Amino acid sequence: MKKINYKLSGEIFWIGLIVGVIIVFIWHIAGLVIVWVSALQAMIFYRCPHCGYPLTDISMMHPSCCPRCGVDLYDE
Ligand SMILES: [Zn+2]
Repeated sequence: MKKINYKLSGEIFWIGLIVGVIIVFIWHIAGLVIVWVSALQAMIFYRCPHCGYPLTDISMMHPSCCPRCGVDLYDE
């Protein structure tokens, strides 16, 4: 099984957000659940792979480096 890293988590967040927003028009609760779950997993997994600093507080785009330890996140 593939380990969830911050990049995959960020992708899941965006896919979940887009899919959830589309589904919310068809099935309100299911769409909200998808958005909520994708945001929740991002809070857990979208972190610096080196120091564990959560990257969710800057933006959901891939930052170029960690705001705390300064590691280059594109180098992973
Ligand atoms: Zn870091």
